[in-house]
Amino acid sequence: MDAHAEIARAIDNYRDKVVALSHEIHEHPELKFQEVFAAGILTKAATELGLEVEREVGGLKTAFRSEFGGKGPTIAILAEYDALPNGHSCGHNLIAGAALSAVAGLKSLASLPGRIVFLGTPAEEGGGGKIILIENGALRGVDAAMMAHPTDAEFCTMPALATQHLKLTFHGHSAHAALAPWDGSSALAAVIQTFQSVDAMRLHLRDGSRIHGIITDGGQAVNIIPERTECLFLARAKSSKYAKEIGARVIRCAEAAAMATGTRVEHVVEGGYKNLINNLSIAHRYAAHTEALGVKCHEAPENTPTGSTDMGDVSHVMPAIHPSFAIARHGEGNCHEDAFVAHADSKRGYDAMIRVAKAMAMTAYDLLADPDLLASAKKEFEARRES
Ligand SMILES: [Zn+2]
Ligand SMILES: [Zn+2]
Repeated sequence: MDAHAEIARAIDNYRDKVVALSHEIHEHPELKFQEVFAAGILTKAATELGLEVEREVGGLKTAFRSEFGGKGPTIAILAEYDALPNGHSCGHNLIAGAALSAVAGLKSLASLPGRIVFLGTPAEEGGGGKIILIENGALRGVDAAMMAHPTDAEFCTMPALATQHLKLTFHGHSAHAALAPWDGSSALAAVIQTFQSVDAMRLHLRDGSRIHGIITDGGQAVNIIPERTECLFLARAKSSKYAKEIGARVIRCAEAAAMATGTRVEHVVEGGYKNLINNLSIAHRYAAHTEALGVKCHEAPENTPTGSTDMGDVSHVMPAIHPSFAIARHGEGNCHEDAFVAHADSKRGYDAMIRVAKAMAMTAYDLLADPDLLASAKKEFEARRES
């Protein structure tokens, strides 16, 4: 039996176990950096596959890393498993299941022409777990990386945007809102003015950019001139450079609002993700395996609606892919919507998870077994690398 057929057979045999595990993660949604349950059952399953697992990798309590195989290049398969306040509305339980199944498929081979790293990456939803893991060396020595994300569309690429995450705090002066408002300066007026200025700026942003914010503290009491307010903004753009530029413009809007309202503003850049550079050499191989498994898969069209991911940061240090797989039809709900929670625990979702696991495992195997494929992925990475 050839390696691809053996991988597919092993993943089919693993299906019941991994569907149960993915369902369990779905039933225990955990927010960023708190994925104790998910990390626990994933590492247990990896151990049962005969893998040695290193826990609490990179200083992160819920990260883990396992490595196996023979001599040759090293390919990483990444698992996410954090949830959002409305549950597994981003379907990361399926990401974890697909990664684990791919690892199970590759582990079943009698020998591997290289190494596989199974990396558990916490806190994709705003925590940047992968950035911390890169900084702490968890991906050192890895030649290429992959993961796949559920959405409502089937693409071998995902044009994720770079982000700049800002926290703004306004300091005003409190006063009785009826007795002596003239003695106060309103931090609420400043935060409202900031949002209005940001809205006025929108027209002047390049296509594909996004800017959105929330007010996390709008004042202390209705009869006191608000002394303190706080808001968060997320600027997104096709490049990190432009996301930073938008962030700087938001800060100017805030400074202008502070000046106009007689308040003071403090800003903190809470980090940001890089845009995703989809390695087409690897993505096309993944698409070919997906099509052989009976599902049409091509590159996402230019300006496909998209979000952001810390896999973007991985794609800036090595060739990487982040295909999306459909677990809902267009219009039935997409990532972060309440409706997506059910899709992430559906037969359709689990069928897709198993199929994606096969395509990822076969692609990883090809990267180990076919030196030309890895060489062209690396050449493309160097050519498209951003400074
Ligand atoms: Zn998400
Ligand atoms: Zn997600």
